[in-house]
Amino acid sequence: METICKSNSLSAVLSDNLYILILAILLLNLIQRRYQKYSQKKRMATLYFAILSLALMAVSLLIIHFNLSDLILAPLILGLGIIIYLARNRFLPFRLHCRKCSKRLPFKRIIFFDSNCCDDCDPRGNDK
Ligand SMILES: [Zn+2]
Repeated sequence: METICKSNSLSAVLSDNLYILILAILLLNLIQRRYQKYSQKKRMATLYFAILSLALMAVSLLIIHFNLSDLILAPLILGLGIIIYLARNRFLPFRLHCRKCSKRLPFKRIIFFDSNCCDDCDPRGNDK
């Protein structure tokens, strides 16, 4: 009889822990709602990441349920990477430096403001 310890497999680790990442991404998405006027693209980006994480978790749960090999995750992860690369303008609107003056952006500007400009170049939203 072959006994496979699934608790150490990649799919088991993903299915056990990925919901924490999904909840964190959705919590960030809810916080971004506070800056709704300024962060439509970045809110959608966090939502897309939550959807991809959910797809990864669903596939890892299916692998465990049907007792399949973890190698199935490889083309899925590759596919998700290709999707992120091809739609990188939608998935990765976050910039670390100001578009206009190249000054380092504060965390609030990186996460919540679509303009990717510093407080001096784009004074909108400074009241919050
Ligand atoms: Zn600037």
